[in-house]
Amino acid sequence: MPFTTENAACAKCTFFDTNGSADLGLCRYNPPISQPSGDTAGVWPKVEASDWCGHFEPATAA
Ligand code: SF4
Repeated sequence: MPFTTENAACAKCTFFDTNGSADLGLCRYNPPISQPSGDTAGVWPKVEASDWCGHFEPATAA
């Protein structure tokens, strides 16, 4: 199916990590960003299930 703004959604993307929530997850497309301090872990961008971006890639069934 070709990419369109109608069918793209983080919830259907291979890089979406639900992280236990149906509505809010982590985007794993890039490495974590901007550590608040040297002692804390990096930050994964939080995205809504209904959001999308230009890197959308449909998740395949396991
Ligand atoms: S932000 Fe883009 S790459 Fe990340 S989960 Fe959503 S559509 Fe996929």
